[in-house]
Amino acid sequence: MEEVLLEWAKAIHKENPVVDVHLDLAAEVYNRRLYGERDVVERLYLPHFFEGGLNLLVSSVFVSGRDLPEKGLHVAMAQIGALREDLEPLRDVICVVTNRGELERVLRDGRIGVLLSLEGLDPVGTDLYLLRAFYDLGVRGAGLTWSRPNAFARGCCLAGERKEISGGLTDLGREVVAKMEELGMYLDVSHLNNDGFADVVECARKPFVASHSNAWSVHENYRNLRDDQIAVLASCGGVIGLNACGTIAGAAPQPREQAIECLCRHAEHLMAVAGQEHVGFGFDLCNGLSASMPRLSFETEEDDLLLHHGETLLLSAALLGRGMKEETLAGLIGGNFLRYFRTVLG
Ligand SMILES: [Zn+2]
Repeated sequence: MEEVLLEWAKAIHKENPVVDVHLDLAAEVYNRRLYGERDVVERLYLPHFFEGGLNLLVSSVFVSGRDLPEKGLHVAMAQIGALREDLEPLRDVICVVTNRGELERVLRDGRIGVLLSLEGLDPVGTDLYLLRAFYDLGVRGAGLTWSRPNAFARGCCLAGERKEISGGLTDLGREVVAKMEELGMYLDVSHLNNDGFADVVECARKPFVASHSNAWSVHENYRNLRDDQIAVLASCGGVIGLNACGTIAGAAPQPREQAIECLCRHAEHLMAVAGQEHVGFGFDLCNGLSASMPRLSFETEEDDLLLHHGETLLLSAALLGRGMKEETLAGLIGGNFLRYFRTVLG
């Protein structure tokens, strides 16, 4: 990596908002605190957040299949509590934001904002009053399912088996989309299958996102979006987050140059199809969460193509080296998702 490109990338990250819309932070913090660790974000994440110039992060609330269905509600609420408690002593540098005013304040103060999103509505069960309760806890986004079938949608695979499945939204799924829009929560279609995606396009009235999905044309993985899906999501005003999970991107973490090059190809393709204002970062870095979980299933593989948020600079430098314009990169690293969230939280 040429030093001059890295310095250029650093300057761009410093002068422009940097946003990552998918990290399973609440789950990891909860797991680690259960085992007695404290100050998880401060020790394991904050230095890298600073290094990458991060301004806004979406922490998903992710409940593992082994806690469902009985403990779904319990674990989801406990994750939110654990994250808030872990962030409490750091309020001068990083805090949860729930509305436009809070978002603008943290950006102005140079703090890092954290939005909460449910990765799968399993904790809600079938009771939409619980969705309202999660909204009141600060949750501002949700995916209907994390891959597995539930009361709202079928999802993209049988979790744990990596076996692609079909079938879209249920009647309750359509109802919850309307309820989310009414409450002011954004909808995330990552982890839906093609039928589910089509159903969302049909019933959503507001722009939605695919927070951590890549391009099927670059790597054929059922978590990725076809070109026509990318185009329609963008035409509805949505944004797609580039995923740095090796399995989903289609590369191994080593050698580093090839891993970064693979992410560049996804970013460039997504932008070519969606338009440069409809792509951002949703890295889905999982190594930390994996390390905090019992090693039981594929959920615990370590194949992040970026090892931490400081390495977002390597990606930006590589994109600059491949000819991406500075203003295009500024949108990709955060401007595009920030514009979306300003609307959602408005
Ligand atoms: Zn996910």
